[in-house]
Amino acid sequence: MFYFDEINSKKILKSDLIKDAQIFFTTKESFIKTKEESLSEAVAKNRNDVCDYLKIEHLISPKQTHSDNIAIASDIKDYPDTDALIIKRSDFAIFLNYADCTPVVLYDKKQNIGAIAHAGWRGSAKSIAVKTLNKMNSNPKDVIALIGPCICVKCFETSPEIILELKKTIKDSSGLFSEKFADLKGINERQLREKGVEEIDVCPYCTCCDNNLFFSYRKENKTTNRISAILKLN
Ligand SMILES: [Zn+2]
Repeated sequence: MFYFDEINSKKILKSDLIKDAQIFFTTKESFIKTKEESLSEAVAKNRNDVCDYLKIEHLISPKQTHSDNIAIASDIKDYPDTDALIIKRSDFAIFLNYADCTPVVLYDKKQNIGAIAHAGWRGSAKSIAVKTLNKMNSNPKDVIALIGPCICVKCFETSPEIILELKKTIKDSSGLFSEKFADLKGINERQLREKGVEEIDVCPYCTCCDNNLFFSYRKENKTTNRISAILKLN
């Protein structure tokens, strides 16, 4: 179940399903990613607060391009053209950024390794969550998945071509589509369940419906502010 916690009196969103690693989603209060010059100071302060909270010095993030490229975050460096990071170290944290796209977090409780994927409709159509799971070399039964705040089925109106692409990624597409709408959270959940992941927590919040809490690219006229999924291993 998802619940709100705070860093320095600013809301963050967590799930009680993962207890052995530190994983949370930022909100409009605690966000650490923007391209707005006027917000850069606030964002830098939030980043410092997150580092203090996690007791680390470095938070790293890839350059996301809606690809299905997956990297292992083995060092503190740039990860260009990458939409999923796997981490095995505990001395720094990773984060990926979103405004409507689906954040998928995977945690292998047996190997103590984690990953975050960026699954917008393009990433979802490329099954990036499943490809990330494969690259972790995990037994799906050992993996806990979180599907974070993103656009909901009522808000994600799309084209028949995209719906067709998304349907190809799952065997059972029942309940996930209507004529013009696709359930990106449900599609990512179904992809993972069909690969054998059993423990999945799906966030009830929508970036559009709950726009007071989260950023939405669609609702906020292509905002460059982002919410982030952050992961640090213990
Ligand atoms: Zn919605």
